[in-house]
Amino acid sequence: MSMEELELYNEIGKNIKKRRKELGITQEELAKLTNYSLSFIANIESITYQSFSIAALNHIAKALNTNMISLLPKVSNLENQRKNLKCEYCDYETEIPIELSEFIKSIKEITHKKVRLTCPTCHKRIII
Ligand SMILES: [Zn+2]
Repeated sequence: MSMEELELYNEIGKNIKKRRKELGITQEELAKLTNYSLSFIANIESITYQSFSIAALNHIAKALNTNMISLLPKVSNLENQRKNLKCEYCDYETEIPIELSEFIKSIKEITHKKVRLTCPTCHKRIII
């Protein structure tokens, strides 16, 4: 799974936990309501990046008296994610949008080469 995918499962897990707490029910109770194991529910809600099917998400949403859509991450949450890009020669540091970071990652995977950018401050090559 890609990092972006893992983040997605993690975000949904957080939303499930939030909704469960709103209803004031325990993980054990949610496990009983869904007929899933307690460890599966616990893994979904923690940072273990437990994956699950759309059908399972739908099932959990119904047990939580809500719909699947409300448990999905808000698009803006993902869009607002940024990564830091730092020059190792000077103090230059900038934030790049996650989309650009993913794009650079894809290029690296395809070409098997490091990507070089020119630092706008010291004009040395930043290898990322
Ligand atoms: Zn620099």
